[in-house]
Amino acid sequence: MNDALRHKLQAWVDFSRDMEIDLLSRRVGEASESLPAASSGKAIQEPKKPVAADPVKRQPPPATEPVIHPVSPSGFLGFAGSPGLFDEPAVAPQADSLERIREDLGDCQRCKLSAHRTQIVFGTGNPNAELVFVGEAPGADEDEQGLPFVGRAGKLLNRLIDSVGMRREDVYICNIIKCRPPGNRTPEKDEIDTCKPFVFRQIGVLRPRLLCCLGAPALRTMLPIKEGITKVRGRFFDYHGIQLMPTFHPAYILRNPREEGTIRRDFIAMAEFLGVRGKE
Ligand code: URA
Repeated sequence: MNDALRHKLQAWVDFSRDMEIDLLSRRVGEASESLPAASSGKAIQEPKKPVAADPVKRQPPPATEPVIHPVSPSGFLGFAGSPGLFDEPAVAPQADSLERIREDLGDCQRCKLSAHRTQIVFGTGNPNAELVFVGEAPGADEDEQGLPFVGRAGKLLNRLIDSVGMRREDVYICNIIKCRPPGNRTPEKDEIDTCKPFVFRQIGVLRPRLLCCLGAPALRTMLPIKEGITKVRGRFFDYHGIQLMPTFHPAYILRNPREEGTIRRDFIAMAEFLGVRGKE
């Protein structure tokens, strides 16, 4: 490429960069690789020069590092992720239903937890619920009864729901994994990865107004958020157009009763969001 052509091309590239036209915002040496050969019809023979990384803005954030940003002074947080960030669409195909999802789970043997469980704990509650709770995993009581949050943590969850003028029958409750981990240990990554398509489908079918993630494992399954639950609890995030609030897991409150006031405040904020009148 001669100097005059190089200058002209560079001028175009600078102009396009100033005008924020991404297609052309590359250096000339690099641009020449992808531009068609000059009118001579010959391929451009210049040796390729290493091109320094362009320091100019507009590098898209990696998909695994979404930007969480406040969008209103009320404390609502938007989730600036990119399409395809999640493994499953949050809007269910029309044919999907809770019954269909349960059928697809079947007598699930997809992961090692199946060897230890008594029964699958799918989820329960109002299929038209405006509020859905997602917990971590069934414990011993849940494994025995086949229902989520029926043990001590469940009793506390019931009290919290009740304290803000809602009823357990009005909400829907499920977990990110459907089988009890032995000894109530934290679910492992492969177990969550295997099971999470089912909770994604449940949320896609339910499409509540508000999704409450109880504890960090539930939150991190639904959104790629790295901050600790203490930092993000009580704030609103966007999950495919559904408002999502993380809060502490009730089992954590049983171990740290001094935090009960904090989780109560989060429940009050959720009830206010839903327009539920608290108890007088
Ligand atoms: N803890 C959970 O996360 N889920 C349950 O169902 C019970 C306890």
